[in-house]
Amino acid sequence: MIVDERMRTYINSLDMGNSPFLEKLEQQAVLDRVPIIRKEMQSFLKVLLGILRPARILEVGTAVGFSTLLMCEYGRSDLEIVTIENYEKRIPLAKENFRKAGREKQITLLEGDAGEILSGLDCKFDLIFMDAAKGQYIHWLPDVLRLMHPGSVLVSDNVLQEGDIIESHYIVERRNRTIYKRMREYLYELKHNPLLETSIIPLGDGVTVSVKKEEGAKT
Ligand code: SAH
Ligand code: MG
Repeated sequence: MIVDERMRTYINSLDMGNSPFLEKLEQQAVLDRVPIIRKEMQSFLKVLLGILRPARILEVGTAVGFSTLLMCEYGRSDLEIVTIENYEKRIPLAKENFRKAGREKQITLLEGDAGEILSGLDCKFDLIFMDAAKGQYIHWLPDVLRLMHPGSVLVSDNVLQEGDIIESHYIVERRNRTIYKRMREYLYELKHNPLLETSIIPLGDGVTVSVKKEEGAKT
């Protein structure tokens, strides 16, 4: 936990929630132990969508389509989303949810490993939402940057690893160490890459917001 539990509970208690369809989908996901974005992240994405009004979004990590559909609902009416998922059990569920929500035309689900799929894409996106295997973000970054135009925004979820990120290597459980090392590299790169301006925000499980700069620009 990276934010005091009472603070988090208080903030979330003010939340007005989502449409009945999304509420049901969220409840089902929780029951089925499908990971989905937390309340704080939901609210944050809604605000970003309102500010940025992206026409094209790329999402890495669909799961059963909860965040995809949330972005559809709170994005502009002509929004197009490309979303990537490699877990065969979740893909049909996501497709079914897109159909039930009547959003099939807006959403393209690309099935397979995100690393492979990203390297094959060559169109630009206004917003990229990274919410898949945390240890891979650093490896996917060159392709992600290639898919951004100046002004495109990259949002990455779960970057502070429940607070592990600030612990010593030795305190982090062995099985989490590779992810820990790679996530530290990722955050360093987001903050030091001359093409990006990045803010690391301790919201939910930690989120970064990065904007791609004009080549040679200071901000
Ligand atoms: N964005 C979703 C939650 C995604 S959970 C929501 O909030 O509703 C992360 C998903 O990423 C999982 O379903 C997992 O199967 C998928 N994933 C992990 N590694 C991946 C990879 N290398 N390629 C494609 N999908 C991947
Ligand atoms: Mg996540």
